[in-house]
Amino acid sequence: MSTSVVVVGANGRMGRAICDVAQNSPEYTLAGGVDSPARVAELSLRMVGKCPVSDNLQDLLGRVPENSVIIDFTAPEVSLASARVAAERGMALVIGTTGLSSEQLATLESLAAKTPLLWSSNMSIGINVMRKILPELARALGPDYDMEIMEIHHKHKKDSPSGTALTLAEGLAKARDWNLQDVRCSSRDGLIGERQEQQIGVQALRGGDVVGVHTVYFLGPGERIEVTHHAHSRENFARGALRAASWLAAQKPGKLYGVQDMLA
Ligand code: NAD
Repeated sequence: MSTSVVVVGANGRMGRAICDVAQNSPEYTLAGGVDSPARVAELSLRMVGKCPVSDNLQDLLGRVPENSVIIDFTAPEVSLASARVAAERGMALVIGTTGLSSEQLATLESLAAKTPLLWSSNMSIGINVMRKILPELARALGPDYDMEIMEIHHKHKKDSPSGTALTLAEGLAKARDWNLQDVRCSSRDGLIGERQEQQIGVQALRGGDVVGVHTVYFLGPGERIEVTHHAHSRENFARGALRAASWLAAQKPGKLYGVQDMLA
């Protein structure tokens, strides 16, 4: 059965990729697109004859099948507003937006009691498998191996370090029984002294049109391991988000799901 989806941020880089995959796959039906008042006219031109569009999610939902799943890749405050609308209507919502504060994530967790919600800072299957193996590497290598993360993204990305880099860092910190907030170092400048033992460097490069590169380094005595994920295009995130939408449609409310739950 085809999963009906409504895309919020449909005229953005990720929104366009999700709409393209949904329109070209029999497993999904693109039921509607939402974008900001400033960009909805451009979205209407792209979508002519394909599905309804609006600058207001609430209005659009009256014109789509009730069992549609909402997919939101926008900005933190916009995704929070989508989550409130989804919770009111009991509709499933997949959020891929990054840069959410811990308070905003806590709000999502409480809304997840009312409706099926999934949030992931990275919808790629490769990154999610990498998330599983990194803590194992950290534990097997032991405390002699320093852990550092470097990420590269296109010059339009607004948050830094990337949500994915922070998620990977959280997994590494947990594997060592550390609290990431206490050990994260995202700036090294000037006469800063030697590296602290309990530290995870999370550094960001920005430029060009790089879709996303994440490298995790384990730097030990006389050797190092590097684990790198390259996203070649946005299609892998789009496919992951759509797969998450199909999966979420069959889940019950109760917890804020992640891609890890889907893979389990
Ligand atoms: P973008 O700026 O290209 O797209 C965002 C879209 O949201 C724009 O079209 C914008 O007009 C729209 N928007 C803004 N306000 C709106 C509103 N009130 N209502 C409806 N639409 C609104 O950004 P992008 O590169 O597509 O990234 C979007 C988010 O997704 C970012 O947080 C990014 O980090 C994240 N992202 C996540 C993943 C993942 O796998 N989870 C992958 C890539 C990007």
